[in-house]
Amino acid sequence: MAPVETLSCQQQPKSQALKRALRPIRTFVRHALPFAIAAFAATYTQTVPNQFKATQPLVSVAVRDSTQKSAKNACKAEVSEAFRQVPVLMFHGFENTPKKKCNITPDEFRLILQELYQNGFFVISAKEFAEGDFSRVPEGKKPVLLTFDDARPTQFKYSDASGSKISKDCALGILLDFFSSHPDFGFGGLFFVTFGTGNFGDEAQVGQKLKHLLELGFEIGNHTVSHPLFGKIGYERAAKELAAFDSLAASYLGQQALQVRFFAYPGGSFARNPEVASLINSKFDCVFDAKGGIAPSAYSPDYDPKRIPRVEGTLSNVRLIIASMR
Ligand SMILES: [Zn+2]
Repeated sequence: MAPVETLSCQQQPKSQALKRALRPIRTFVRHALPFAIAAFAATYTQTVPNQFKATQPLVSVAVRDSTQKSAKNACKAEVSEAFRQVPVLMFHGFENTPKKKCNITPDEFRLILQELYQNGFFVISAKEFAEGDFSRVPEGKKPVLLTFDDARPTQFKYSDASGSKISKDCALGILLDFFSSHPDFGFGGLFFVTFGTGNFGDEAQVGQKLKHLLELGFEIGNHTVSHPLFGKIGYERAAKELAAFDSLAASYLGQQALQVRFFAYPGGSFARNPEVASLINSKFDCVFDAKGGIAPSAYSPDYDPKRIPRVEGTLSNVRLIIASMR
């Protein structure tokens, strides 16, 4: 149809006839189409269960992708729906009688691994998550990332004084057992280490444990030395925390300390001071929260490597994740 200004006087009656003919279409576009779009979006948009205190939509990225034209997003659109979001589970202590809400029993941890395995989840590394490299994940399976905060004693214990045997009851022992009996479950685990208040419960052995973790193929993240709430501290204190962590990590790991590319804000308390936020964001590849629901992956337009949500690793939360990602 020609633009309006090019129509001659003789053409006007034809144009009015055309307008009349187009009227039903215009009425549909104006009144019915918004409802049709809303109904479509409602069908494909699902929010994360409340228990996660979620802010991210689960599947709405599919709707948004259909309107994006760039080559990058066209490529994203080809990625399996199962790869657009990755649950990042956050574990703390493991005790037979949990004294804190964030702690679970060793048996609950075994059950969590079992249920993730039975429901088609596949453990990836933090590096794979950050790079969006899901090439190891078999078709039909869903990536999951496991993280362990605070270097708690129950995460990594030796069962002998020389430190040659990993205790079967600590989180690491349970994890290694499970990986070895389920080779198609993937492999990985990111330990967000705290030195001063953590050290896996033994300052004398922490260096050996960190090296051991890397040798086994696990990853280490920075969770500071004294676990301060970054939302409440200034630049100087934050810089000191980072410098102290780097110095300790280098003394234990040498060059391997450079592999620490991930950071988790203690207590999920994000920096409010812009200089502190910029210090953290420029130093680390990925910055993790302590809440927020299932994480958008690198294939989602919602992916923000400097604010990656996590979900507390409890059996009830894992069951909700399984149900919502079915
Ligand atoms: Zn912590």
